[in-house]
Amino acid sequence: MQLSKRIATLHDGGSDGWDVFYRARKMKAAGEPVIELTIGEHDIGTAPDILDAMHRSARSGHTGYAEVPGIPALRDKVAERTQARTGVATTRDNVVITAGGQAGLFATHLACCDPGDRALFIDPHYVTYPGTIRSGGAVPVAVQARPENGFQPLARDIEAVAGGARSLLINTPNNPAGVVYSRDTLNGIAGVVEAHDMWLISDEVYDSQVWRGDHLSPRALPGMEDRTLVIGSMSKSHAMTGSRLGWIIGPREAIAHFDDLSTNTNYGVAGFIQDAALYALNQGREAEDAVAAPFRRRRDKALNILAGQNAVKAVHPDGAMYVLLDIRATGLSGEGFANALLDARRIAVMPGESFGCAAAGHVRVAMTVADDLFCEALETLVAFAGELARDNMANAG
Ligand code: PLP
Repeated sequence: MQLSKRIATLHDGGSDGWDVFYRARKMKAAGEPVIELTIGEHDIGTAPDILDAMHRSARSGHTGYAEVPGIPALRDKVAERTQARTGVATTRDNVVITAGGQAGLFATHLACCDPGDRALFIDPHYVTYPGTIRSGGAVPVAVQARPENGFQPLARDIEAVAGGARSLLINTPNNPAGVVYSRDTLNGIAGVVEAHDMWLISDEVYDSQVWRGDHLSPRALPGMEDRTLVIGSMSKSHAMTGSRLGWIIGPREAIAHFDDLSTNTNYGVAGFIQDAALYALNQGREAEDAVAAPFRRRRDKALNILAGQNAVKAVHPDGAMYVLLDIRATGLSGEGFANALLDARRIAVMPGESFGCAAAGHVRVAMTVADDLFCEALETLVAFAGELARDNMANAG
């Protein structure tokens, strides 16, 4: 039987750069000692007190259909967190609870774009972006943020493709680059989306992981509140990746429609998960800082290891749980390097090419193993890149 074009073309058919990841998983399953620095998953699980809250809620009966836009107390708490962090007045009417940030990405594109509309996104990007945009029937259009600009997207590059587009998706702190968009970058973005009357979809799932300066949400910029939809999530801030709890923050009229969308798709998020999220958010910022602390620590260690050599250059990591490394001195692509590193040293990293074209010649290192193992793996990676870079120089000379 024939399937719809939409479902059949979610994946664009090219190599998605995940081969290294799957190969590493196979090697590990076969008993080889592979160090995995691949996906964005904490090395700690969800904290026991959050699991206790989930259990208490389920045992007390919160296992039936839960309120679809989210339980009021959780929406209030998310609104309070947002207002405290951004200064923008926010109430429960600005919040809908979703099944993770991913469901928020899908819902916002479905809400902003009709089939065939162009939806812009910044490359490098979180892997699902183009498929998510296609799943709502829109046409993904990438705008490259280049390494020579520190992976900060330029307003003029967005402007060049903005004509007729309905939305722009950005992500700060950024996966995979680990950069945090500057106020200038965000002002430039705001200028373009206003000039072209577009929606700004701002993926802020790493807002609790900022290593330098503060997180700036573009919803807080003048004139942006009515055209910005912010995606948030408990996945990264509270190590609750498997709980699938996120949210969309936006203008109340738009949020009311997301309520309809949830009713007609997944019918909301389990009540006991929502209660656990409420409990977790009630533990305050210290609890989020504690989850972020290992990444901050490892990021500092990574900068020490990477100092004083030229084979590998770090894109300065200012946020999120990754360090993006420029390995072009080795003469290999990101994919070539990642495969060679896995074969020769049993260390798995993600090729930059998995995240679009802009991060070609880079690899993304997830800081998601214990400090000692992380340092040992990074030192090995750097030494390996050094050998390849020397060979590359010798061959060129
Ligand atoms: N956005 C970005 C930038 C991500 O890196 C991820 C997950 O890694 C997501 C969204 C999806 O997160 P969630 O687990 O909340 O669906």
